[in-house]
Amino acid sequence: MFYRAARENESKIMKINFCAQQHSTNQNTNLKKEKNKGIIAGYLVNRVISNQVPVVSSLLFLPVMKKISNSITPKEADIISNALEIAIEKSNIKQKGLNVFHVSEENINEVTQKCTEMFMNSKMTKFFTKFYGEDSAFERCIRGSFKPRMEYYAKEVQNGKNAFFWANGINTIMLPQKGKGIQLASFHELGHALNYNFESATKILQSSRQFAYIFGTLAVLLSALTLKDKANAVDENGNKKKGVRQFIKNHAGLIAAASMLPTTIEEGVATLKGDKLAKDALKNSPSLLKKMRLSNAVGFLSYIIAMLITGLAAHCTVKVKDKIQENYENKCKSIN
Ligand SMILES: [Zn+2]
Repeated sequence: MFYRAARENESKIMKINFCAQQHSTNQNTNLKKEKNKGIIAGYLVNRVISNQVPVVSSLLFLPVMKKISNSITPKEADIISNALEIAIEKSNIKQKGLNVFHVSEENINEVTQKCTEMFMNSKMTKFFTKFYGEDSAFERCIRGSFKPRMEYYAKEVQNGKNAFFWANGINTIMLPQKGKGIQLASFHELGHALNYNFESATKILQSSRQFAYIFGTLAVLLSALTLKDKANAVDENGNKKKGVRQFIKNHAGLIAAASMLPTTIEEGVATLKGDKLAKDALKNSPSLLKKMRLSNAVGFLSYIIAMLITGLAAHCTVKVKDKIQENYENKCKSIN
């Protein structure tokens, strides 16, 4: 009986050991799976929240701006166009190389072609393409990806739905035909042009806004989603781990929102400069000036909200990813 009991116990122990080994291998595989699950869930949460920026904009801000824009009569739109021309002349900005195009059906192809050539000949593009030579596959690829983008935005302007200032070597304001479409943004776009052409600090902001946003968001996402340490990792003394990646992860929301600061500040300065010029240029049309200021203020508010949503998206990405990983770690602890 004793022998049999001993063999039974031995067999049980072997089974337990085998299970423990199996459990440990499974645990590693499952932890990896759980981590990947966390990364996928975190990424999805990030996309869902980030995608609310255009939704919020089209629900809250665009209707208000559209309503203000629709209240402008053709005569008032003409007043804005003429006042803008005078303001441009007074500011001597054309001597700095600024182009102003009123996009119409007749000139849209010419405008698009001209802007594409300016982009291809800009210092920034030349810096990247010079190593590959004239008419290289790389240069054709850059041109091929830029031109359709320019055509899309020019079409928006031609239809009176938008107005733009293009920096980075293009130095161009695109507006709808005189007296038509969204003319209320004209002075705000001139504000962007002043930022780019006259002040080095605002020029740096203007030129860096896209890069800051892309790199800021990428840094947060990569650090938050690929962090090798376990969720809420602690060192041997029980203190939370330190280091650049851990810092980025802990402050993901703030950093992502801050990556939009150059954009938001530059937008705010462009609005203030545009308002200042409009105050002088439209002094005989106070109600029109009021509408323009209100429209520009709503436009600026949309950037603040976009900044907050971007921060919230990064914050939730990290939280969701950690939560899924942490749940699994707790499950493992309770089994052991
Ligand atoms: Zn703007």
